[in-house]
Amino acid sequence: MSEQSVTDFRNRARAWLEANAPRRGSGDEGSEAGRADIAAQQAFQAKLYDAGFAGISWPKEYGGQGLTDAEQIAFGQVARDYALPVGVFFIGLGMPGPTILELGTEEQKKRYLPKMLRGEEIWCQLFSEPAAGSDVASLTTSAVPDGDGWVLNGQKVWTSGAQYSHYGAVIARTDPTVPKHNGITMFIVDMHSPGVTVRPLKVATGATPFNEVYFDQVRLPAGSVIGEVNDGWRAAVVMLRNERVNIGTMGAPRTSPLSYHALSSLAAKQGDSADPGLRRKLAELYVRERSVRLFGQLLREEAMAGRDPGPRGSVAKLAGAELGTFASLVAAEVLGPAVAASDSEEVREVLNAALSAPGSSVAGGTNEIQRNIIGERVLGLPKDPGVDRSTPFNQLRVGTLRKN
Ligand SMILES: Cc1cc2nc3c(=O)[nH]c(=O)nc-3n(C[C@H](O)[C@H](O)[C@H](O)COP(=O)(O)OP(=O)(O)OC[C@H]3O[C@@H](n4cnc5c(N)ncnc54)[C@H](O)[C@@H]3O)c2cc1C
Repeated sequence: MSEQSVTDFRNRARAWLEANAPRRGSGDEGSEAGRADIAAQQAFQAKLYDAGFAGISWPKEYGGQGLTDAEQIAFGQVARDYALPVGVFFIGLGMPGPTILELGTEEQKKRYLPKMLRGEEIWCQLFSEPAAGSDVASLTTSAVPDGDGWVLNGQKVWTSGAQYSHYGAVIARTDPTVPKHNGITMFIVDMHSPGVTVRPLKVATGATPFNEVYFDQVRLPAGSVIGEVNDGWRAAVVMLRNERVNIGTMGAPRTSPLSYHALSSLAAKQGDSADPGLRRKLAELYVRERSVRLFGQLLREEAMAGRDPGPRGSVAKLAGAELGTFASLVAAEVLGPAVAASDSEEVREVLNAALSAPGSSVAGGTNEIQRNIIGERVLGLPKDPGVDRSTPFNQLRVGTLRKN
């Protein structure tokens, strides 16, 4: 793909976005996805698809544009200045989608990917369980063969978007007699199947971004397995890698309520910008934000040149999460007593962003887990001994807690 054609594509994308999407910080961006705006998000995704900006690097036979990562990345760079109302597709297109593309059957690719791209079907990712988060291979949700399909039982938690998803990628134990990583399978589950119960969980901002999901004798038809039976750990690793790279290469948004730009203008409005302590913290925020942005850009440019960011996606994800935590502390200092009592819309936005920030130190793998990955796979430190890696799952305490 020539540099000129990428430049042309970028210009076309910018012109389309300018005409069709609200700019970030324009006050027009809408809030977190609620039930009511799902239809509007689906309509916008369909518009993006029709304009040739969905599935940019996915093959044409599965609904994509058949272009290269260079165009995909160019679009991402331009789109950062716009508040695209397509948040409900972030998981499907970033995680289950690429996993089906890499490991799915021809039938699955043809059935699910075009509808995902056109915004007709929304997906969620069902990995975490009450006793299996960082160590997700300890999961106890089970799937047993039933005729030509399977029957699914168990509980997932923290499932973002389950309340409005049509399908989910779920991992379940299919062989408890082998070590924990070897007896897992990934399935496609229809979230409207009989036996699926979704219970929203409320967070500090009052929103309900994620859910508990219960499976009670849920029938999974033939053709539901993604990849191979009992090889679901490989599929999970593909999905988690996509998740970290996606989160990690997003970079620091230029216009979030916790950005240097937003907080320094808020401080100026409140007459606080001369305070030397606060000025020092704002300066540090600027430097950290710029470093995260430049590192994200470096990884994107390397990806453009065909180099997989690999475990360095964890470095970007960790730095982004730590930036969010630091920015919320600066925000609390800028707001002062207004943190506790203010009915201004601007303060409410900053406060909501600050309350949501700790979530990014947990979602997609906690900061500690990212540090383990960086230690072992970037710095080459000795690996965690992983004492339970060769013990059959049904002989581990964690796996037998609920069953016996
Ligand atoms: C906003 C948000 C959205 C999410 N969306 C989804 C979703 O859509 N689908 C989904 O499946 N899950 C989702 N999750 C769940 C998320 O993946 C888990 O919360 C995360 O993996 C951590 O698991 P846990 O909460 O069980 O914590 P635990 O694994 O119990 O960890 C508890 C503490 O122990 C530390 N710890 C654990 N193991 C180690 C270790 N080996 N070394 C050092 N420290 C360790 C952790 O860092 C943490 O501080 C979401 C979470 C959040 C916050």
